[in-house]
Amino acid sequence: MVFFWPPLRLSLRILPGLALALAAAACGGGGGDSGKVQVVTTLPLFADFVREVGGDRVEVTPLVPQGADPHTFEPSPSDVKKVARADIAFANGLDLEPSAARLIEANLKGGAPLVKLGEEALKGSAGGSGATGPHLWMDPDMALLYAASIDFWLARVDIDGAEEFQAGYSRFASAVNDAKSYVGGKVAAVPAENRKIITTHDAFGHFADAFGLEVVAVVVESPGQEPSPDDVAKLAEAIRDNRVPAVFREPQIDAEGRVLEQAAEDAGVRVCTLYSDSLDDRVTSYVELLRFNGDEISRCLGGTASD
Ligand SMILES: [Zn+2]
Repeated sequence: MVFFWPPLRLSLRILPGLALALAAAACGGGGGDSGKVQVVTTLPLFADFVREVGGDRVEVTPLVPQGADPHTFEPSPSDVKKVARADIAFANGLDLEPSAARLIEANLKGGAPLVKLGEEALKGSAGGSGATGPHLWMDPDMALLYAASIDFWLARVDIDGAEEFQAGYSRFASAVNDAKSYVGGKVAAVPAENRKIITTHDAFGHFADAFGLEVVAVVVESPGQEPSPDDVAKLAEAIRDNRVPAVFREPQIDAEGRVLEQAAEDAGVRVCTLYSDSLDDRVTSYVELLRFNGDEISRCLGGTASD
C-alpha cells in the first residue's frame, strides 16, 4: 500500500516540518477555561488571520497593541501570562518583531508550537516575488500562504476543527482575492508614471511587486533608526526627481512620519496614508487594509477610476 503525505490540498499550499507537526499533534489542544484553542500572535493582523480561519473554535490574543509598531515593540510583564496559557503561537519571524518573538520562545509551554508565518511562507513560495524584507503578508498571495499555514497548524492542535478551519480558510481566501482584484483595478487606473510610493519605512516591497508599483524611497529601513541629514536630503531628492504627487505616512510610525511630512511640505506634495504593520479603529482587518491602501493610492496618485 502506498501512503501519501501530506494530503494533497496541503502539499499544494505549504508543507511545514513534519516532526514539529507530530510534536504538536501529540500535545493535544483546547486548553483554557473556555474549551477553545488559546492562540497568541505577535501582530493584530495575524490575530485577524487566525480569527478568519479558526472562527469560534479559537480565542486569539495579539501581543502588539492595535496601532503599535512591531519592530520596536517591547513586551510588558503581563504579556508573559498571555504567552504561557497559549496552545499555539504565530509570529512573522525574519526579525520583524524580535522582542515579541523572543518573549514567546521563552515562555510558551512545552509542546505548544511557535509557527513563524513569514518563514513558512517564504519556504512555501520558493522565494516569492523577488522583493526582500519580512513584510511578506503585504502581497495577498503570500497572505494566503500565512492563512494556509494557520489552517494546517490549527488542525494539528485541534483535529476536530479541521473541517471548520478549512472552510474558514476558503472564505478568507475568497475575500482576500476579491480585495486583491479591487486594489489591482485601483492601481491600473493610476497613470503609469505615478505608480511610485514613498513611505516611512521599508514595508511595501512585496505589496509593490504584487500590484505593479515601485518603492522609490523610504525615510528609514526599519522604525527606530534615526534618519541622518543625508537620509533626509536623499528623501527630498527622491520626491523631487520622481515627481510624485504624494507621499505616504503609516499610522503606527510617528517620528519618521514627521520627517516625511516636513520633506513633503518642502516639496509641496500631499501626505497620504498607507497601512502595513498595524490595524486600528479605522482599518480593522487585513481585507480592509488592502482596500484602504487601494483607495488611497488611487485618490493620492491620480487614479481616474470611479468607485
Ligand atoms: Zn514593518
